[in-house]
Amino acid sequence: MTRPRLIVVSMSLPVTAKRTGEESWSFAMNSGGLVSALLGLKGFETKWIGWPGVDVYDVVGKKALSTALAEKGCIPVFLEEVCDQYFNGYCNNILWPIFHYMGAPPEYRDDGTITYQSQYDAYKKANRIFFDVVKEHYQEGDVVWCHDYHVMLLPQYLKEYNSKMNVGWFLHTPFPSSEMYKTLPSRSELLRSILTADLVGFHTYDFARHFVNACMCILGIDATSEGVVDQGKVTQVAVFPIGIEPERFISTSELPEVVQYMKKFKNDFAGRKLILGVDRMDFVKGLPQKYQAFEKFLEENEDWRGKVMLLQIAVPTRNGIGEYRKMKDQCHKLVGRINGRFGSISSVPITHLDCSVPFDQLCALYAIADALLVTSLRDGMNLVSSEFVACQKEEKGVLILSEFAGAGQSLGAGALLVNPWNIKEVSNAIGEALNMSPEEKERKHKINFQYVKTHSTQQWADDFMNKLNEITSNGELQN
Ligand code: UDP
Repeated sequence: MTRPRLIVVSMSLPVTAKRTGEESWSFAMNSGGLVSALLGLKGFETKWIGWPGVDVYDVVGKKALSTALAEKGCIPVFLEEVCDQYFNGYCNNILWPIFHYMGAPPEYRDDGTITYQSQYDAYKKANRIFFDVVKEHYQEGDVVWCHDYHVMLLPQYLKEYNSKMNVGWFLHTPFPSSEMYKTLPSRSELLRSILTADLVGFHTYDFARHFVNACMCILGIDATSEGVVDQGKVTQVAVFPIGIEPERFISTSELPEVVQYMKKFKNDFAGRKLILGVDRMDFVKGLPQKYQAFEKFLEENEDWRGKVMLLQIAVPTRNGIGEYRKMKDQCHKLVGRINGRFGSISSVPITHLDCSVPFDQLCALYAIADALLVTSLRDGMNLVSSEFVACQKEEKGVLILSEFAGAGQSLGAGALLVNPWNIKEVSNAIGEALNMSPEEKERKHKINFQYVKTHSTQQWADDFMNKLNEITSNGELQN
């Protein structure tokens, strides 16, 4: 069966561009779950539309960047003056916290010049800019797959332009309970736009249920077993838990250079058990809670002091927002305190790195870690958990996983599930992981490895696309 051409639309392209000359550009790969997931997509002719991480104001630069990106199957969206209020403002400082149950924080710049309305206007403008780029590149029969909360108005713009366009929308974050979602002033407009899509997807049943409830209680429309009905139109709402590309992790962790890194790191950490954390430096990841739990563990388990370390990769993110800078300072303070309390001349209990690490080293760390500690306060899925499971070698490490991560619903059976707000419970789970018998570790790992192997990114994308295809073909038959 020939597959339709796929146009992926997301806020960011998988690469960030950097200008190196008037007409020359270099590119760096972006980190993050969405990029990892969509890069694993195979079998589709795909064009990826998104922001290249930089705004360009001159025609020569735009043209050169578009040409260089075209070789990578990418098409840039230039957001220019709306970018700050759209991306740092409405997306990251309003939608992101509300979708993660943090409520709306204070304005990201408190000089009185920025209002909710000005940020929402920027959001609308930016969605229009995305629409113009899709319109320019769309060919009949293409499927347009819109990703995430950055482009919630896009389905409506696309359908108003061409009602026959096949449009899917997928949310990579949690969709919050309607009690939280309701606080958003533009709640109805955003829901109505999403409902114009042919298929709406979420990672978990809870997120899908929250969305359907929000439609019912805010728009007063009916739900069916398949989705919701708005003015006679049924929008299908379904669950597609995202996975990773397991073979990429399994094969990388077997490469000679990665095995070399594993030996080196084991040597560096000799005599100590390694608890690993890999998160973007985001308040939803619960890093302060993680450090407090580790501190509690060291406080209560004198015998383990000097024999266990926590290595936290804290990938920088959204440095433009004040709340993020404050959280980073808070983490540094906590690490300083804990290392001061429990460190010795030869070692400190926490190594906190404000950077990302190269892929081969990340796989080596996953492979040798005795435990992965995930304390997300809310998380759409958390791919790091699956990556850790895929890379495990002879001695299986234990996954300590927040029940508030989407992954808790798929990897919970082979993990120690914790409530990250309960410091004592997380501290106990650390103890349980470090003392777990090899047989129990093997048993838990087997359950999760089986799940990770069979729920790949490819499967996720195939399932979404097949469902969308089924819906749109049925629609054509009925017309
Ligand atoms: N990651 C990365 N470089 C790093 C650390 C992490 O590319 O130094 C990747 C990691 O492999 C994973 C993604 O970032 O694929 C994080 O995805 P996750 O779903 O866990 O969280 P998100 O960042 O999307 O909230």
